Amino acid sequence: MPRDAADPLLLTPGPVSVSRTTRAAMMTDRPSGDVEFQADLAFARAYLAALTGDPAGYAVIPVQGSATYANEAVVASLVPPGGVLLIHSNGVYGDRLVEICAHLGVPHRVVRTAPFTPPDEALFEAALRDDPAITHIMLVHCETSTGVLNPLEDVAALCRARGVGLIVDAVASYGAVPIEAGRLGLHAITVSSNKCMEGVPGIGWVIVQRAVLEAAKGRNRSLSLDLWDQHDHMERTGLFRFTPPTHVLAAFAQACREHEAEGGVPARLARYQRNWRRLVEGMRQMGFVAVVPDEHASPIVATFRFPEHPGFSFQALFEGMKRRGFIIFPGRLALANTFRIGCMGAVREDDIGEAMAAVAEVMAEMGITAFGRSEAVPA
Ligand SMILES: *Cc1c(COP(=O)(O)O)cnc(C)c1O
Repeated sequence: MPRDAADPLLLTPGPVSVSRTTRAAMMTDRPSGDVEFQADLAFARAYLAALTGDPAGYAVIPVQGSATYANEAVVASLVPPGGVLLIHSNGVYGDRLVEICAHLGVPHRVVRTAPFTPPDEALFEAALRDDPAITHIMLVHCETSTGVLNPLEDVAALCRARGVGLIVDAVASYGAVPIEAGRLGLHAITVSSNKCMEGVPGIGWVIVQRAVLEAAKGRNRSLSLDLWDQHDHMERTGLFRFTPPTHVLAAFAQACREHEAEGGVPARLARYQRNWRRLVEGMRQMGFVAVVPDEHASPIVATFRFPEHPGFSFQALFEGMKRRGFIIFPGRLALANTFRIGCMGAVREDDIGEAMAAVAEVMAEMGITAFGRSEAVPA
């Protein structure tokens, strides 16, 4: 049975498709202070805290907005006066952290690696040696603009050894890639409502060590992004300070229940890995080339080169896929002539199989039945 193009499956780096039951949780209008709302909020916070492996050690704070709001809140709240933040970037989301620091006037240093290259420890060691004023490191765990997974364990070990605070943008990994924040000693993690947790967009979550949060009292120059204040109010009242995204929160609590029912992080990781393998193998069979080496790839999203064929048009591929009920995504400007297909969200291996059949059909419509390195059309 063909898919309903009016209700497409999002194969994008976020937002992601969610289950019908998670969507259905949004069909009730609720006031912000009723017991059901408070129960959902408490449950979601406790659920995210449990995933750290040290629920007593971490506070979970929702911030209204997308995950960038959480990243901005964490930088503004946790880097103290006199502190210096070292940011690693190998893509768009690393660069956005740099932009956040520039806007906030937070002193920062940047180390970069090429788009498909994770950093190694020596890079951070050299940066810490060059500037002893560095107090914190912020790392993007899964760089969604390419799909590269950066080495969290190694950087965390270095930070523990050097007494440097580590903040992790786990927006595109939390819920699907194990992150034992307690064991790793992470100062804070940022998470999105709408990526691997499979909720809808509208809440950025910050998970922060309690002692670190306590030290942040009165530090943030922004009222709405003040994590200490948001947390303090929530602990005292069970409520948000300002109008909460009530529908989004209801959906998120349902998404957490479904995460738990699926079998938690290991089960979600296994499903995404099956999706990713089917995707990359299916695309390779057609002749597409995945740009991130498999050993650095996360099972969240994959980036492919445009085929070297004069008949290829990404716009035509996008439109043809959309007519068949699948949404794919362009690459980033820095990575010219690439596109991305996501494998997170309420997506199963069979869905990816159908998507691969759709790609083959659309390519045939473009008159492309064979391409790739071995069969490249001569210029
Ligand atoms: C999606 C994402 C963000 C946040 O982007 P928003 O546009 O604010 O949702 C931040 N970091 C990473 C790694 C992401 O994938």
